[in-house]
Amino acid sequence: MLIETAKIGPAGMSLADIVEMGDASLIDEDGSYLDDIHYSVHLARDGERIRARGSVRTTVSLTCVRCLEEFEQKVNSSFDIILFPVQLVDGGSISLSENDLETIFFRGNHIDLARIMSEQVNICIPDNPVCRPDCRGICPNCGANLNFESCQCEQSNASSDHWPNKIKR
Ligand SMILES: [Zn+2]
Ligand SMILES: [Zn+2]
Repeated sequence: MLIETAKIGPAGMSLADIVEMGDASLIDEDGSYLDDIHYSVHLARDGERIRARGSVRTTVSLTCVRCLEEFEQKVNSSFDIILFPVQLVDGGSISLSENDLETIFFRGNHIDLARIMSEQVNICIPDNPVCRPDCRGICPNCGANLNFESCQCEQSNASSDHWPNKIKR
């Protein structure tokens, strides 16, 4: 959905819609959408900037980094971002250092809400998704999924940190 930026005034406008994802994939991760992106957003002008506040909701399918099984992850996230015309940055007339909010640049006279909403969903996807906090992963020796079965190797390898990949954050 393209929004003409000239139509966004200081009082702002509120929108709620869906972005149809079809069989689209997530940007970075080995994952896909199981639902469209449902969003609501309030857009308001502040000089050259447009502040966008709202929320996104969808369901994605991810692959667990420990057990390699696919699992469903619900995404329900709010955002508060600044949209900024990239022409002003290119021209060097504006410095962006003064604000802490996430800044997204747009080119021309329109902002592409579908793209912005899918970015907001992708930001929420963890780098190393796990199907559940206590996922036991697969045995590095025999490949057994330790959530469902125990294997002989586990007996001889009493150490609990047999899985080499540490989960970030
Ligand atoms: Zn898992
Ligand atoms: Zn094993």
